[in-house]
Amino acid sequence: MLHLLALLTAFQSPAAGTAVGFDQHFTGATLRVGLHHAGTADEERLSIDHLRIEGPWAGPRARPLDPTGFGKFRVELRDLESQTLLYSRGFASIYGEWETTAEAKQRFRVFEESLRLPEPRRSAQLAIQKRGADDTFRELFVQAIDPRSRIVDRAPCAARGEVIPLFEEVDPARAVDLLVVADGYAAAQREKFVGDSRRLVEVMFKTEPFQRRRADFNVRLLFTASPEAGISNPRKGVWKDSALGCSFNAFDSDRYVLTQRDFELREIASQAPYDTLILLFNEKKYGGGGIYNLWATCAADTEPAPYVFVHEFGHSFAGLADEYYSSQVAYEDFVAPGVEPWEPNVTALLDPSKLKWKDLVESSTPLPTPWDKPRFDALDLSYQAKRAELLAAGAGEDTMEALFREVKASTGPLLAAEKFAGKVGAFEGACYQAKGLYRPSADCIMFTRNPTSFCRVCERALERTIDSYVK
Ligand SMILES: [Zn+2]
Repeated sequence: MLHLLALLTAFQSPAAGTAVGFDQHFTGATLRVGLHHAGTADEERLSIDHLRIEGPWAGPRARPLDPTGFGKFRVELRDLESQTLLYSRGFASIYGEWETTAEAKQRFRVFEESLRLPEPRRSAQLAIQKRGADDTFRELFVQAIDPRSRIVDRAPCAARGEVIPLFEEVDPARAVDLLVVADGYAAAQREKFVGDSRRLVEVMFKTEPFQRRRADFNVRLLFTASPEAGISNPRKGVWKDSALGCSFNAFDSDRYVLTQRDFELREIASQAPYDTLILLFNEKKYGGGGIYNLWATCAADTEPAPYVFVHEFGHSFAGLADEYYSSQVAYEDFVAPGVEPWEPNVTALLDPSKLKWKDLVESSTPLPTPWDKPRFDALDLSYQAKRAELLAAGAGEDTMEALFREVKASTGPLLAAEKFAGKVGAFEGACYQAKGLYRPSADCIMFTRNPTSFCRVCERALERTIDSYVK
């Protein structure tokens, strides 16, 4: 606690409110730590693969300590000599999701992970911690880093694509810098990528709180050409060597799109300043993904692409959880019983008087909040069955999109007619569990494809995340 207080004082320079403390401890460049994260459901190991200097640090300078407390993992950087905490950030990872799947009970796997930190001036201690079931962080990995040593790769980052600014009116040190990177676009499809990105970014900035906070963002595009159009789709036997290596069927889930080539991705992305990445892939097949403080992925050409773009960014940018609970996912016990999830928009409601969004609940709204779950479940179940049937039969995207429209036309009005629709409460069914986990609102972008707005709890979490970069 002493360290923390000393640090807070050091960073609150009365004149500028920033810079002095930051410049004292950091060079202003970005240090990327490439890690291998290996293990099974029961054990895990981390090892450093490389240390790499990127361009100027675009992240927060005034508040280098994580104000959110979010994330399954947390990285901390301490001055080695004084042990003063210099920087911390919560994050989630592909490994953190994978270890909850059935596969992790059977075999080892290893994943590439990259942590981007402000480069310290002096030797520092890098610690990676993991959240336990009791909600406290435990040390997983500790290693001293000497930024002046010859193991730090200082080669200039070579151009591996074209950076195209959409809008960049703010100093990166005081903005949320969003970088949209192309995958599965052939060299001749540059204009298509720019058009796709513009269209989806525009939708995002028509959604609150992004609309009112637009002036706090810089948005840049990074066009990297792939040898041919599209990304891998293993269930169809389609394999492509796309620029970023994005693929459908992550964790054997048809619509889940990730890349396992994080090191390569980071090297490509390092040509532009960024706080947060969206990997936009050139496909008409429904899919995407989003992991907190890692990146989001989104298919560009599907009818629900605007929804996927905004929904997945909610995961990767603000740590929002999925509020849905009936879709097929690979996770088993994603949230252990009796544990309060760290995500800001789902709760186990272990003690309603301590509900994390209690200040947004009106006194006339009961907790848990009643809703016609049986009716929604019956309808939803019939659609899930139909979707599985269509998938198995190899139905085309047009047929799937027609089904999505049908779901929207029936479940949208149903949820909107709920007695407590539009109110903040605790509605049972969230985060892949039909029972024991609760979401804040009858409907939300994190729950269904129906609404075009986030619930108030999600909106506030997004706004607080924006603040953490700009204030
Ligand atoms: Zn929500």
